[in-house]
Parts: sequence; C-alpha cells; structure tokens
Amino acid sequence: MPELPEVETLKRSLEKYVVGHKITSFMQFRSSLRYELDPNLATKTVNSFISKLQRVAKYLIIELSNNNSIIFHLGMTGRLTLRKINYEFQKHDHLVFVLENENLIVFNDSRRFGMVYVCNTNQLKMQKYLKNIGLEPFSRQFNAEYLVNCFKNKKTPIKSAIMDNKIIVGVGNIYASESLFLSKISPLRPAQTLTTNEILCLTRSIILVLNEAIDAGGTTLRDFVNGDNKPGYFKQKLNVYDRKNLNCYCCKAKITKIMQSGRATYFCSICQS
Ligand SMILES: [Zn+2]
Repeated sequence: MPELPEVETLKRSLEKYVVGHKITSFMQFRSSLRYELDPNLATKTVNSFISKLQRVAKYLIIELSNNNSIIFHLGMTGRLTLRKINYEFQKHDHLVFVLENENLIVFNDSRRFGMVYVCNTNQLKMQKYLKNIGLEPFSRQFNAEYLVNCFKNKKTPIKSAIMDNKIIVGVGNIYASESLFLSKISPLRPAQTLTTNEILCLTRSIILVLNEAIDAGGTTLRDFVNGDNKPGYFKQKLNVYDRKNLNCYCCKAKITKIMQSGRATYFCSICQS
C-alpha cells in the first residue's frame, strides 16, 4: 500500500513535468473505482492549467487554475504515472489526463480501492478525508511536546497511537515498527507510559525513518511506480519490518512478529522495552 513517502516521492517526481501545463483532454475507461466517479470530471478539469501539486497525508492533490483541485488516493494498488502521447494503454488504466506538453497522467489501479475526485480548492480543508486529521510529521508543530500532550491519557499501545491519523499522519505500518525499533520502545507499551525522553527520541525517529524512505524513493512491498516511471523501491534498509525470526542487527536476537489491531508488528524483544 503506498504510504506517505511514496506519495511524497510521486509528488516531487511528477511536479516538474506537469506544473504550468494545461490539461487539454480527459479520458475515462470506467465509471467507478472505490466509489462512483464524478460524471463531470472532464468539465471540471479540462482547459485548466495545473498550478500546484501538494501532498496532504497520503493524498496527492493537483490544484488547477480554475480553482478546482483533483484529489487522488492510491488505495491499495493505485499508481499515477507520467506517459508520453504515444503510450499504449494497459489493463487497469482507468483515468487519463492529457497535457498540452504531450504528457499523459495515467491513473492505473488493479484492485480499484483508489479514489479520485474534484473539489473547490477553497474547500480542500473541509473535505471529509482531509478535515480532522493530525499533524504532518514534517510540520513545525510536530514535536515532542505535541506528542507528550497527545499521549498523556492514552492507554492504547504506542504503535497504534503513532499510526492514529488524528494524531499524526503518514506513519504507516512499516514506519511505525521501524521508528519504535530506533527508539528502543516496545510496540506494546501503553502510550501514556512513555517518558518525555522516550517521546523525544520517538519524534526524531519518526522524522528520520520517513526522510530515509523519501530519500530512497519510497519503500514499498508492492508494485509502486513513481511519476518518472522508475520503480519506486530502492528499498531502504529495514531493521525489523518483514524480518520475522531473522537476527536483530543490534543484539542478534530473533525478531518477533505479532499482530496488533489486525496489523503485523515486528520488533526486537531484547532491544525494545
Ligand atoms: Zn535487538
């Protein structure tokens, strides 16, 4: 599943080819993805210039000169790729935005859990999926003090707490396990039991792990392709994730896998307490 670093990588790689260019036509090969698609996607987008790309949590947003914004969520298998005008469409290509510079923005999604819709740019922050979300990990407001405050009465395990979108966005399953390992904190600890120092360390680890993933072009265990059509995974070195029964790089103990809230958690029971 594409996570924050993949979407950030996608944004950075796409923007240099699309910002400032006009959408000249739109093609749609099916009427629904996860939800029914807006039948007016073409009228709301064609003949507008792309003014800006931004990422909010795991949403990629293309802002247009007509004050509309196209919001993409890649779901499980969604991919947005940049293609040339002579591109031959492939299975699961569902939506295509044609640009005047002869590039195509193609949305492909085999399992169709993705979401694409258009809203007025002024109303972006009021959208169902974008309101009530927590802080961006790279925002200035995201710091240890903020987390200390969020966790002070929280009895849920720390791993679930850092994956809670209402607290912080973009800490997906891989990055939650990895940042807890770097902080030497057990994923099972109730959030409220963390000391201020541990929270400070965790805050830094979350930012570090996400930055490393962005630098690596976005980790993924699936078929993510970024906007430059390069495979998105120059897989960053993962310390615990997907390493069940392999030796911990620090202490050589075997990495443990457990299930927490239906998601796999990996950790070292010696290094993390
Ligand atoms: Zn260890």
